Amino acid sequence: MTCKDADKVIALFLDDDLDNRQLADFLNHIETCPECREELTIQFLVKVGMQRLEDGNTFNLKAELDGLLRDARKRLNGRRYLFMASIILELLVVALAAATVVLALTIG
Ligand SMILES: [Zn+2]
Repeated sequence: MTCKDADKVIALFLDDDLDNRQLADFLNHIETCPECREELTIQFLVKVGMQRLEDGNTFNLKAELDGLLRDARKRLNGRRYLFMASIILELLVVALAAATVVLALTIG
């Protein structure tokens, strides 16, 4: 992902509107690109800062952004885990079916 791409998806990220692949690319870029991380911080502060100003709760925005990035990464890993689990389950089903066929042939 280039800085131009990352810049385009910052707003989508803040709205939690990215698919797995985009989210992974975006997080990887943000973790290695200080410029885009700064841009994300600014847009986050503008978006969430406005809400927090109304709440009168502005002191912990930096921690909140870090938490958001951490959660996104965690969620992504969770999705990946689920994906792996579904593949393993599928393989088990196939293996069971194959075993059944082999058994049927052996017995028959
Ligand atoms: Zn960048």
